[in-house]
Order: sequence, then C-alpha cells, then structure tokens
Amino acid sequence: MEIKPKIRGFICTTASKEGCTENVKNQVEYVKKQPAIEGGPKKVLVIGSSMGYGLSSRIAAAFGMGAQTIGVIYDKPELGNKTATAGWYNNEAFEAEAKEAGIYAKTVNGDAFSIDTKELVIDLIKKDWGKCDCVIYSLASPRRTTDDGITYSSVLKTIGSEYTNKSLDLSKAYSDGVVNVTKVTVEPATEKEIHDTVKVMGGEDWQDWIELLVKEDAIEPQAVTIAYSYIGQELTHPLYKDGTIGKAKEHLVAVSKSLENKYDALSAFVSVNKALVTQSSSAIPVVPLYISALYKVMKEKGIHEGTIEQMYRMFAKKIFGEIIDTDENGLIRMDDLELRPDVQGEVAAIWEMVNSDNVRELCDVEGYMSDFLNIFGFDLI
Ligand code: NAD
Repeated sequence: MEIKPKIRGFICTTASKEGCTENVKNQVEYVKKQPAIEGGPKKVLVIGSSMGYGLSSRIAAAFGMGAQTIGVIYDKPELGNKTATAGWYNNEAFEAEAKEAGIYAKTVNGDAFSIDTKELVIDLIKKDWGKCDCVIYSLASPRRTTDDGITYSSVLKTIGSEYTNKSLDLSKAYSDGVVNVTKVTVEPATEKEIHDTVKVMGGEDWQDWIELLVKEDAIEPQAVTIAYSYIGQELTHPLYKDGTIGKAKEHLVAVSKSLENKYDALSAFVSVNKALVTQSSSAIPVVPLYISALYKVMKEKGIHEGTIEQMYRMFAKKIFGEIIDTDENGLIRMDDLELRPDVQGEVAAIWEMVNSDNVRELCDVEGYMSDFLNIFGFDLI
C-alpha cells in the first residue's frame, strides 16, 4: 500500500520507510565522499540520534571518523496499519549501513530523560566499550518527565512583552498548494513557563548524563561532549534568543562551563548551528518564513548546507580538525555562513517586501516544504 504524508499542524503522522532509507543513504554517501577525519573520537554516544542534527552527527561520526556509535532514540515501530516513526526507519537504515560497512552501531530505544534509559546505555557502554570518548547531546522535545514523576512542558514564547511579526501559514499548502504570509502574535511566557522550558530544553539533563557517566566510570577523562544551540539574528531574537528557548540555551552554555570546571580534562562544547527545517524548528512561529528566505539567499550564493554538511564540517573543521575553532565566548559557530552580513542583509530586504502574493517568488517555499516532507521520507524518491 502506498504511504502518503498525513500532515497535522507541524507534524506528519505517517512516514515512508523507503524515503527515510534513501535519506540516510544520501547522508552516508555525502560523508563518504569527504576526506576522512583523522584523530577524532572512536566511541561516540549520540543522545537523540534518530532525526535532524543528532542523526547527522551519528552519520558523520561513523562514516567520517570511523567511530563506533551507540544511539539513544525514542521511536515507535509499525503497529497495525500505522507506520513507524521516521526516526525508527532512519535508525534501521543507519544500522544497516553501519553493518554493511563493518562499523559497530547499537541503539537503545527509550526516554533519554529517564534514569532507566541512562542505566541501560551505561551498562551497554561498559559491556561493549568500557568507556565512551565522545557524547553528543541532541535532544529536542516538547516535554520532559523527571525521575520524580513530574512532567514539564516547554513553550516557544517571548519574555516580557508580546511580539508580532510575519509568519508562513502552510496549513493548506500540502493539501491545496495555498501558501500565505500572515501575522502572528506571540504572548509572553509566565515565570513558570520560562522555568519549565529551561527544565526541558536547558542543560540539566545533559549534565545528568555526563555526571552519571563519570560516576559509573563509563567515560574517558579527556572525552569531548557537544550540545546544540541556535542564536539567529534580530528578526527572530524576540522569539528565540531573547525568548523562553533562548533562556534554555543560556542554561545549556552555563552547563558546558560548569562541566569543564568540574571535570578538568573534559571538553564540553556548545555548537551554534544553522536554522534548518527539522521536526522541532517547524513548530516555531516566524522561523519557517525566516528559513524560507534564508534558503533562497544561501542557495543562490551556493553556501546552503543541510544537517549533514553542518555536522561533517563541525567535526572536520571546528572540533577535530587542526584547530578548535570557537568564538570569543567559547562557542562553536556553525551559523557562520548564515550570519554573514551579506546573507542577513538580503534576508532583511526580503522580509520587508514579502507577502502572500510574492512569497513563492521571494522565498524558497518549495525548498522548505520539500525539506519538511523529506524529514518523513516523502518527496524523495
Ligand atoms: P529533531 O526534532 O530533528 O531531533 C530531535 C531528536 O531528539 C529526535 O531524534 C528525537 O526522537 C529525539 N528525542 C526527543 N525526545 C527524546 C527523548 N525523550 N528520548 C530520546 N530521544 C528523544 O531536532 P533538531 O532540530 O535536530 O534539534 C536537535 C538540537 O539541535 C536541539 O538542541 C535544537 O535546539 C538544536 N538546533 C536546531 C536547529 C534547527 O534549526 N533545527 C538549529 C540550531 C540548533
């Protein structure tokens, strides 16, 4: 039976196994064509490895550095007439590719926030590796249940005052081809909402993972750990950098510093990545229109990158290359091309002009929609 995309809001509830497999193969092929990264870590734990930046990190580690990987995913297999999640198919495809290449790859499917999953993963590391030498933390989740049974939800809201800006309305785009530019107003968050967003998307769980790995003697003292952030520019600052999610990302950076202070030999990086279409970013108001304008400009300039290009370049050029390339605050800047003044200047000019009548011409709406469908394995083969 042919599987079709079923899109509800920002989520597609179906996924194509063939398309997801193709997507993973394409990423593997991309990395295989790049120069091998010498001297990088060899036993890499990737938390949140089934989609987006985490999946690409795992592929770049395995096929770019020849690293063994353990992935942590939270995905569902096929059930009755329901397809599996895209992450499930991606993971199957990754494991098959790794097996064919003779590269160790095992995956634990469970809630990465829970102590049970952490213990399972650490047992596996100790049994198969002794210790890991790199931990990539790439979770993006709307909620987190802590071990005392309390569930926290993250919100994408401003802090202080409400914020109105243009946004892309794709609610009828996939069914009827109608794309509109509308105005959205985002309400300021309450103190509790800010606190809870930091609890879900901040660095607390990253810290818990590292502390437990150290306590259980399952991580090399000189290990490298990397978590991901986004900063963006003025247009999205009220919503992102200066909003609830930005507070969580500030916390992530604070955790990276405190981990390095606590564990002398450990390197804890936050990499600020480029804005790209993923399951998580599609849920943020304003951002999809920004991404469509950005894609248009960066593709025209020949400097567009997807998650795999970003993650390969991060390992090869910024962290495990000849030098560790950080900014003055110690952050890895994978948003260097996105934030180039010429790129941002052109995005700002598009932003001024864009409306429902000219959005398909001024922005890369096709590219945005195609990337969204690709996440679930559609529009690919
Ligand atoms: P994504 O939605 O594509 O991937 C998130 C991954 O986390 C998925 O594999 C998902 O299954 C997994 N996950 C979620 N909850 C889990 C749980 N409880 N247990 C185990 N796995 C779980 O998201 P993404 O965009 O790749 O985001 C990853 C990180 O990169 C986030 O920190 C995000 O803020 C950051 N980032 C994203 C962008 C962007 O534009 N997409 C830009 C810069 C930084």
